[in-house]
Amino acid sequence: MSSETESTVVPGCQFASDNTAGACPEALNALIEANAGSQASYGNDRYTSVVADRLRELFAADCDVFFVFNGTAANSLAVSTCCQPYHSVICADVAHLETDECGGPEFFSGGAKLLLAESSHGKLNVASVEELVTRRSDIHYPKPHVLSVTQSTEMGTVYTLAELAELGGVAKRLGLRVHMDGARFANAVAALDAPPGEIVRAAQVDVLCFGGAKIGLPVGEAVLFFDRRLAADFAYRCKQAGQLASKMRFLTAPWLGLLAESAWLKHARHGNAMAARLAAGLQAIPGVTLLHATDANAVFASLPDAVHQRLAARGWRYYTFIGLGSARFMCSWATTPAEVDALLSDVRAAMDGRSTS
Ligand SMILES: *Cc1c(COP(=O)(O)O)cnc(C)c1O
Repeated sequence: MSSETESTVVPGCQFASDNTAGACPEALNALIEANAGSQASYGNDRYTSVVADRLRELFAADCDVFFVFNGTAANSLAVSTCCQPYHSVICADVAHLETDECGGPEFFSGGAKLLLAESSHGKLNVASVEELVTRRSDIHYPKPHVLSVTQSTEMGTVYTLAELAELGGVAKRLGLRVHMDGARFANAVAALDAPPGEIVRAAQVDVLCFGGAKIGLPVGEAVLFFDRRLAADFAYRCKQAGQLASKMRFLTAPWLGLLAESAWLKHARHGNAMAARLAAGLQAIPGVTLLHATDANAVFASLPDAVHQRLAARGWRYYTFIGLGSARFMCSWATTPAEVDALLSDVRAAMDGRSTS
């Protein structure tokens, strides 16, 4: 018997999203600790102010920091803060803002329109961004006012510092605010091996949505305003949107665990390493094609329909983009080498026409 067939891994949803993982031990321990005793509510507790300080230290910036329940709220509210209802927000055609937020940015901004720039492997095409801004200057066109950049991207690629500098430079030259969707910012930091502050400064980011859930929090994202003027009324926006946690300590204390001893970075490096292991294994299987560079923690593979069916029958759950025949496999802080190898073993079997390995 090969070690592969002895694997105790139960196929399931572990590669469907980095959101299928539980909370990491560091975050969970901090949560349990924060449960003791009474604390002031609505963010006036000591955990919340300490975490905000830690984030300012991490980014080496005097930014304003807020905490919300999820990434859709973080993005929608951050973008809304940057624009008037008659403005437009430029983002990639594959951006989460456009495809996965149910119109949240438009709703919360009271009408700002998303303008979709062309992208390649998830990355914005700079010429397309420029064209969207400069094609019109009349009052009938929603005035471009914000550029939204996703780092790491929806396709698992990571903008280099030079690419970010180019985008940030173009945005500022064109008078645009810069929003960064950092639902997987941690994975980008791990991939670039650069200080977080350097990454946001390269792109001249005004507001960053820093993802917590996908890197190991039970729930929650941070919103960091590097242009603090934008943050003036943000607390009201959060409250109105139902995003002000009454027991805020439970949203913020887990960050303490995550930020201590760079646990977040350790987890991001691990997720990226598991994706690299999976990508290397898939690439070695004849007939399997990888669709994007595996810079961070996502692997996109093109597989025949029958293979998807065999993997599903075996119990594997993951997202497919119908028509393209591709599978998205996400790795997280919790992904184990054994899980990666079990998936690889089943993909090999499925490619050979067998339903089990
Ligand atoms: C997951 C994700 C979000 C946040 O989504 P929620 O489900 O609302 O937390 C935002 N942007 C990107 C690119 C994401 O992958």
